[in-house]
Amino acid sequence: MFRVPLEISRYQPAHPYDRKYDEYFEKRTSGKWKNNSQRLSIESYITMIQQGKCPCCTEALKINQNWCLSLKKKASLGGEYKLDNIDVVHDKCYGQWQTQRASQVKPATPIKGGLQRA
Ligand SMILES: [Zn+2]
Repeated sequence: MFRVPLEISRYQPAHPYDRKYDEYFEKRTSGKWKNNSQRLSIESYITMIQQGKCPCCTEALKINQNWCLSLKKKASLGGEYKLDNIDVVHDKCYGQWQTQRASQVKPATPIKGGLQRA
């Protein structure tokens, strides 16, 4: 018999692809990952990729502190909860990071002088 996974059925009411739910799902997923096997991946991600620091305040970030995932590409834009699409910040930095990140995103620059036909 086909069994609907509990995770999916629980997620359905809140329209995960709506922008206003990005924060809700990021915090919710953070809470889940703190208590499942992803915790180990996050721990090594913080250590290896983020050099043990929070990218927002640049202070030390430890796995046993309150942290929160922030998707680089938001779920509402098609981003996924994968290690190459996340930043791990202090829970208290989450709000600030959303603003800070947005200001850091550079618009795509056109290639100068390239692609000219010979
Ligand atoms: Zn921080």
